[in-house]
Amino acid sequence: MYLSIPNVFRRIIHSISIIFVPKTHFHPETNKTHDVAIIGAGMSGIAMAVNLQKRGFTNFEILEKYPDVGGTWYENRYPGCGCDIGSHFYSFSFSQNPNWSKRWSEREEIWNYIKKVVSEFKLKDNIKFNTEVKSCDWEEKSKSWKITDQNGNVKNYSVVVNAAGALNVPKIPNFKGKDKFTKPNFHTARWDESVSLKGKKSGDCWNGC
Ligand SMILES: Cc1cc2nc3c(=O)[nH]c(=O)nc-3n(C[C@H](O)[C@H](O)[C@H](O)COP(=O)(O)OP(=O)(O)OC[C@H]3O[C@@H](n4cnc5c(N)ncnc54)[C@H](O)[C@@H]3O)c2cc1C
Repeated sequence: MYLSIPNVFRRIIHSISIIFVPKTHFHPETNKTHDVAIIGAGMSGIAMAVNLQKRGFTNFEILEKYPDVGGTWYENRYPGCGCDIGSHFYSFSFSQNPNWSKRWSEREEIWNYIKKVVSEFKLKDNIKFNTEVKSCDWEEKSKSWKITDQNGNVKNYSVVVNAAGALNVPKIPNFKGKDKFTKPNFHTARWDESVSLKGKKSGDCWNGC
């Protein structure tokens, strides 16, 4: 076999990586290290990223459609928004917080906690913000997932973790006479901070998220 200098160099690098990178990091068919895409930088995506890191997988990217982390807690800003599970339980096991200000913390405090975890585990560089996954297709030939974002950019990953959440697309109910209501109306997940409720009568429509 013809051994050019680049070929020899490639073989040396390959041998070093086989020695130092645990075998489980290799795709059995392509013999490449796994590269992982995590869709969503909410609590689930962050938990996934930290757990990958803990197991030595550093070759991952979090694809996030918003310009910041937090998912639910980035998006929901309505007055009084907070958790309904005690904060000490609604926390990551790997980053406990003894300083919650109250048992059921509000949105701002939870969001700040999530941002602190992202900084503690140095995840910011792994996150591609303003990147909305539009499609994800398996390609047999390269044994990888082809992800296309909203701008048509394409990248392949050997593993995809879907942490896109269940509640981040608001359900807007349709009811009779809705189109005749001309006053400000919005979903709690799209709170309009420019509208003051002071001295106004307001109505809630509970629609199951
Ligand atoms: C007001 C409110 C209060 C809640 N309180 C509690 C509570 O007390 N206890 C509890 O257990 N649960 C609570 N929940 C549920 C909460 O949603 C989950 O606990 C948790 O935060 C969900 O995290 P997640 O990462 O799975 O999803 P999300 O927080 O929804 O995060 C998903 C992320 O994926 C991103 N994303 C989605 N689609 C794409 C795409 N195509 N491309 C790129 N990025 C994408 C989103 O922008 C988002 O950042 C509450 C929910 C709400 C709305």
